[in-house]
Amino acid sequence: MKLLQRFKSIRFVLTGWYTLILLAAFALFGFSVYIYLQHLQDAELSSNLMEETDWISRLVDVERGRMGAVQHLDSLSADVEERILEHFTLNPRNYVVILSSLGGDILYESEFGDTLLPTPSSLPPGRTVLTSFTGSRGINWRLASQRADPFMIQVAYTEETTEKVLHHLLSIFLVIAPVVLVFAVGGGWLMATVALRPIVDVTQRANRITVERLNERIPARPVPDEIGALIATMNDMIGRLQISFRKMKELFVSIAHELKTPLTIMKGEAEFALTSGLTPENAEQLVVSYLEEIARISRIVDDLLTIARADAGQLSIDHQPVDISLLLQDLYDDASILASDKHITVSYAPGVPAVVSGDASRLRQLFRALLTNAIQYTNEGGSVGITCLCDRHTLEISVRDTGIGIPRDDLQNIFEPFYRSQDARDRVKSGSGLGLSVARRIAEAHNGSIRVESTPGAGSCFTVRLPLQTGITPKR
Ligand code: ADP
Repeated sequence: MKLLQRFKSIRFVLTGWYTLILLAAFALFGFSVYIYLQHLQDAELSSNLMEETDWISRLVDVERGRMGAVQHLDSLSADVEERILEHFTLNPRNYVVILSSLGGDILYESEFGDTLLPTPSSLPPGRTVLTSFTGSRGINWRLASQRADPFMIQVAYTEETTEKVLHHLLSIFLVIAPVVLVFAVGGGWLMATVALRPIVDVTQRANRITVERLNERIPARPVPDEIGALIATMNDMIGRLQISFRKMKELFVSIAHELKTPLTIMKGEAEFALTSGLTPENAEQLVVSYLEEIARISRIVDDLLTIARADAGQLSIDHQPVDISLLLQDLYDDASILASDKHITVSYAPGVPAVVSGDASRLRQLFRALLTNAIQYTNEGGSVGITCLCDRHTLEISVRDTGIGIPRDDLQNIFEPFYRSQDARDRVKSGSGLGLSVARRIAEAHNGSIRVESTPGAGSCFTVRLPLQTGITPKR
């Protein structure tokens, strides 16, 4: 199994393809040369045969002219026979020449004349017809037959020479093939090694970048190639990891700090109660204080859980039709009571009744966080206004206050967990910095968004956009 996986590695695949392509190119080259040579030999053989037949025909014509009477020519003169013999003896090919009358009487027969030359089925006068046949001992012959009335000239060559040349060529190819194979495999392996070397290098360097060394980067390549793009992507990824790790560390520190404060208070109170003696009055005080601190811890833990679930895409939203006007009316009533202590005026402009598909308790949590902040960060005598607008598809709910506002530099961070502006820390000690983080995640889980506009010293306006559900009856 391991061996099989090894064969699937890039190195093997590259080598395999390289070998295959080289062998295919070699086979194509060999095949082309073979076919071309075969064709060439064939053409040469045929043209030789035609020439020889014509030569004999011309010779016999001269002889007939010399004799003066065609029909009485029943044998050739010794001179003509000598010339034919001499001509073909100089020809290196194995050959057969037969000159016969149409009746079948042999006028001349060369040395290997006993080879039976088949007569083509149709032989028009004056034309030379080329045929092939297999003679005795399986030898292949190429035959040119010409009817030069009242004679028939037949010249045949064996195809042995052609076959020998082709056979030699094939042998050469078969001997070279293993050498080509070795070169192909070696070349492929070398090519794969060279191509993969930068990747091996990148892997080694990437391996050295551990959690403790996330500030390091893989050196860029001098050429902008595919490996360069890979390095850039990996460096980007390491950069993002570095930011995530930093944020995670900061988050751990913040969590520890936030949980430590109530625990320290609880510990101090318990120690004080122990040293000063536990009376029924301070015991009750202690329990009340404990419950407050426990409630604070459990709020922090709940918010952290919500954030973690939302970031993992697991924030469960129980989608139901929610009448936002009704929900805001409830929240407005609560906020008015809360604001009355600071003489802050709260107003609500309901707009048209609007329904969104969502989780009523989560949406309540979102708007309560915005209203609580608005009241918390607004000075006595200020005002908080809730407005609700909608177009065909979107509902826009704004919570506007005339409070302390948010410094420009803090605006991009206030939705991060535990982030609080210095001004807010000075004014409200009890805040955890988790409210807006949770609010943003709830809005996003409802396919909505949240944005803020603020002028330090003049006030802030938080706007939540939610997709409107049309054709749904509000559930009251
Ligand atoms: P908390 O209110 O507990 O500090 P939040 O997450 O609700 O936490 O808010 C984060 C920070 O955003 C606050 O500490 C404050 O600096 C700023 N902020 C939020 N709402 C307002 C507001 N209405 N006016 C001014 N600052 C605000």
